[in-house]
Amino acid sequence: MSVAPGSKRRPAVLGGAPVFAAPVTVTRALAPARDAMDRRLDGVLADRWFTNDGALVRELESRLAERLGGAYCAAFCNGTFAIEAALRSFDLEGEVITTPFTFPATVHAIAWSGLEPVFCDVDPESWNLDPARAAERIGARSAALLPVHVFGNPCDVAALAGLGRRHDLPVIYDAAHAFDVRLHGRPIAAHGDCSVFSFHATKIFHTGEGGGAVGPDAGRYERLRLLRNFGIASEDVVRGVGVNGKLSELHAALGLAVLDDVAAETRRRAALAARYRERLAGWEGIRLQRMAPGTTPNHFNFAIAIEEAGFGLSRDAVYHALRAENVMARRYFNPLCSEIDAYRGLPSASPDALPHAHRISREVLCLPLFGDLGEDSVDGVVDALDSLRACAPEVRRALT
Ligand SMILES: *Cc1c(COP(=O)(O)O)cnc(C)c1O
Repeated sequence: MSVAPGSKRRPAVLGGAPVFAAPVTVTRALAPARDAMDRRLDGVLADRWFTNDGALVRELESRLAERLGGAYCAAFCNGTFAIEAALRSFDLEGEVITTPFTFPATVHAIAWSGLEPVFCDVDPESWNLDPARAAERIGARSAALLPVHVFGNPCDVAALAGLGRRHDLPVIYDAAHAFDVRLHGRPIAAHGDCSVFSFHATKIFHTGEGGGAVGPDAGRYERLRLLRNFGIASEDVVRGVGVNGKLSELHAALGLAVLDDVAAETRRRAALAARYRERLAGWEGIRLQRMAPGTTPNHFNFAIAIEEAGFGLSRDAVYHALRAENVMARRYFNPLCSEIDAYRGLPSASPDALPHAHRISREVLCLPLFGDLGEDSVDGVVDALDSLRACAPEVRRALT
């Protein structure tokens, strides 16, 4: 059953007062309690130990390994480098199959590692890499699969594990969006040969800048440690080519302080996401991502897909009209990675082969979601959307 527009307010693009007096961003970083941070920083300053396998990085690694379901967690200076190190730890050559519907870091990490990205279409409901399409992309030069749990929605892990096994390809997950996500009660990083998380300030758990690789085989930790620390195995032994990809103690201090607040943040986001879902239920032309059955979500973001035919306005029109209301919604991920200059010339980047990804990247809009957004603000965003669909023809004219 569809719910008709109920709004009488005048959209800001048509001269009405904006719903919000000041910009409401799509996310807002968690700031830890000052004393939780100070306590850790006091230790760093007293010991004058700012980096290089310090006590705080080691504490963070062991707490995250346990929480994220790995035999180890190797911390890095950022998530992008953590993907590069993870790829390198498998000694790959050739092609890596991935999704175009992701943040550029996923694909850049492949290219920067001297490997060739191969794009594969996504599933139209889950918005994640489609294992059946991925199977068609596997060839003699395939080296690995790099799927993304996009917006924290678990990929079809069983199908991808089967594909990896059959073709002897490691499955390395970009789990940047999936901190604390569980599938049938198990942490998401229990799946795949390695899962990489981003601890960037825009993610739910963060260290300002940072990242971590988590996996089931404890042996990989040593290799990852060498890769992030110049290959230095001991005072007189340097193994292979390593760079400087370490996380500092200052970042680890921030992370340990933030970690205590993540569960509460997720609960607050869950309540706000529930409010969005309740208010948007039954709206013509609005679709949500289908989460994998058995998912315990982290509510990293609240993404909607806007079908112009049903809603009356395109996603881009809604995006621009919302900005006039001071709602800074974001068009993740548009352009697709297969459309950016560096990759558009690849054979696998042809739009004909990526129809679902193209459609989704033109329809998806991430609405503001963070713990202290407040239910009133969720209602404000939805009221703004409601007024836009009520005045769709006028809004369309005003924007062209
Ligand atoms: C944030 C993000 C990354 C990169 O993380 P950084 O820590 O910023 O380097 C990688 N992949 C995806 C999907 C992301 O959203």
